[in-house]
Amino acid sequence: MATATWDQAIKCPRCDQPGRDKGHVSDGLGGRIYSIMCENTACAWFETNWAIMVQSDGTIPIRERPERQPKVFPKMPGMTPERAAKQVEAIQDTKDTDA
Ligand SMILES: [Zn+2]
Repeated sequence: MATATWDQAIKCPRCDQPGRDKGHVSDGLGGRIYSIMCENTACAWFETNWAIMVQSDGTIPIRERPERQPKVFPKMPGMTPERAAKQVEAIQDTKDTDA
């Protein structure tokens, strides 16, 4: 699995600005799950949190960046593509947290 440095991991997936460390919880396996929040007011993820995991050996596993594979979202009434993409990501984040 690919790993990242802390500096890489805290970069916002949207704007690439380093986010703020909002604290962490134990993952029960000797590692920690950190909550990082974007503070860039110009970013679509302003005040959005994402999680990064630091394993007990200090490594930070990362998912392949979804940006590499452009996604196509079907048009939905009353929903912008940006909003649809955000919801899909929120669902995927939930799944990852449960895993
Ligand atoms: Zn951002």
